[in-house]
Amino acid sequence: MLNKLVVGNQKMNLTANQTRKFLNSFVPLVDLVNCDVGICVPYTNINVCKKALKESKILYGAQNVSEFEKGAYTGEVNAQMLADVGCQLVIVGHSERRKMFSEQNSQINNKIKQNLKYNLTSILCIGESKRDRTAGQTDKVLCKQIDECLSGLYENELEKIVIAYEPVWAIGTGQTATAKQIEEAISIIKNEISRIYSKSIIDKVRILYGGSVKPENVREFVKIKNLDGFLVGGVSLDASAFSELIHLFVDGKGKK
Ligand code: PEP
Repeated sequence: MLNKLVVGNQKMNLTANQTRKFLNSFVPLVDLVNCDVGICVPYTNINVCKKALKESKILYGAQNVSEFEKGAYTGEVNAQMLADVGCQLVIVGHSERRKMFSEQNSQINNKIKQNLKYNLTSILCIGESKRDRTAGQTDKVLCKQIDECLSGLYENELEKIVIAYEPVWAIGTGQTATAKQIEEAISIIKNEISRIYSKSIIDKVRILYGGSVKPENVREFVKIKNLDGFLVGGVSLDASAFSELIHLFVDGKGKK
């Protein structure tokens, strides 16, 4: 069985110095917790993580990567550069990138393939909009995202993929999906992956939920069948609240 996993997405927040302070508080709070913990920071803060997490099992990574190998792509950062500074995780296909930067499934697919070349784990975000859900299109949207983002991947490469189910309407809104909606989404994702690949691979792909998870509501999600953890936005900026969320998820106890 794979370890549970909780990853923070700090988005475009915190300077290098603020990240250092964050990690100084956060690391001692979660270092011994019985689950994998990761943090995805702005590119400029990756080296701070590298230094601060040297003795720690906390994983770190980026929130995006170039779909290209290298060359004249001003402003881009490639997978090789991320691997070189010790990243293990890369978020791809976050809904904010899909929406604000018009990122397409085909580009996300290229990004995942670049990550694979450098042994980086991709946290692939998928999720339906409110409109998709109201129109009864959730399963269609999730399956299309899975098919196109994972296109051309071999079954053994799925071990380097984590899927984050993040309904767009639940991100940063304070509105969470219900346990039933998350359970349904997980089963859609598992069925689609076993349809494309085989049933045996499905337990090797961790599925996270993301969307307004906080210490106050994390208990609602603990019992969800086949849920392997969370991708956490806003709360991951607060070391104490983020560690509380992790402890509540893993051992049912709050502050340490
Ligand atoms: C996210 O941005 O991936 C996310 C889940 O954000 P929040 O927890 O703030 O809703």
